[in-house]
Amino acid sequence: MKTIDSVVVGGGVGGLAAALFLGRAGRSTSVFDGGQSTILSVDIVREYLGFDGVSPTEMLQKARDEVIRYGVELREELVTDILPLKNGNFEVVYPSGRITTRTVVLATGETYELPNISGIPEKWGRDLKVCPCFDGNEVKDGAFVVFGIPDKLAHMALWVSMWSANVTIVSRHNFNEEESERLNLLGIKIVKDDVAGLDHEGQQLTGVITEKGAQIPCDATWVALASRATSPLAAALCEVDANGFAVADASGATSYPGVYAIGNATQPWDHLAHAAAAGTRVGPIVTNYLLEQKISELRIKKHSQR
Ligand SMILES: Cc1cc2nc3c(=O)[nH]c(=O)nc-3n(C[C@H](O)[C@H](O)[C@H](O)COP(=O)(O)OP(=O)(O)OC[C@H]3O[C@@H](n4cnc5c(N)ncnc54)[C@H](O)[C@@H]3O)c2cc1C
Repeated sequence: MKTIDSVVVGGGVGGLAAALFLGRAGRSTSVFDGGQSTILSVDIVREYLGFDGVSPTEMLQKARDEVIRYGVELREELVTDILPLKNGNFEVVYPSGRITTRTVVLATGETYELPNISGIPEKWGRDLKVCPCFDGNEVKDGAFVVFGIPDKLAHMALWVSMWSANVTIVSRHNFNEEESERLNLLGIKIVKDDVAGLDHEGQQLTGVITEKGAQIPCDATWVALASRATSPLAAALCEVDANGFAVADASGATSYPGVYAIGNATQPWDHLAHAAAAGTRVGPIVTNYLLEQKISELRIKKHSQR
């Protein structure tokens, strides 16, 4: 079976940035992608220098075009298994075949657990927003409703208050004394109820409907969500945290030699620029690992010839 230098699992900006470096370093590299980059859940890229205001589809296509120039193979397939081999390499399994590789870069992203409410649009980043870094500027000074999982709720409400002074939390959660004081200091209102649905007029969000039947008008909703690693591949190969995110050092190295993790596969808070930077950072680290592997192999060969 053919052995290549690197398999990158995930073709979002993280995986593609790693592949760009590896391709340019002359390393035989295949990128496998399931086509579900998180950024595709929104209509417009924000805050990524050089791409602010661009469609995510366009941005990813441009990145793919750049990567294939350097001989990187792109496969629109999901990797189903990665099996470590005795010689330190890996067998990568996917629906139409298998390949062996010297290194693996996991760039498989994260998956959000969306609330079970009515009216969530297909492009849910539009009026069900997750972070004001991405969309706060577009709705600044509007009426905001914040809801979601209790442990992230106070932080989300305080954070979005930097974009508008009109913030209402809709939740039955009981905030502790310190959280209550901080929310109070910033004039954040609390409605003791739960959000049951989003209300729209045409495409326009007009408010939230609560479980008790109240309609709270708003221009944007911010939802504090739980997330977990998209792929179980990391958990089968290396150390992961409670939510399945790979534990990796600053270079992207995991607990398993030759396995690297970047972007949202290891850092749930990473934005596009961070994921791209992580890909660019791991490229030379993987290349150096391959160099050291080559030197070891040549040393063994030399000794065996004596
Ligand atoms: C609503 C929303 C809006 C956002 N807006 C912005 C924004 O405006 N600006 C910004 O900077 N950031 C934004 N982000 C964050 C941004 O989407 C992420 O930072 C970025 O996508 C992370 O890149 P990544 O390469 O780590 O993962 P992703 O881009 O999510 O890519 C992971 C890829 O791995 C693939 N994959 C997973 N498992 C497998 C497998 N087994 N085999 C093959 N492929 C696999 C997936 O299909 C996917 O294509 C937003 C996030 C959300 C939720």
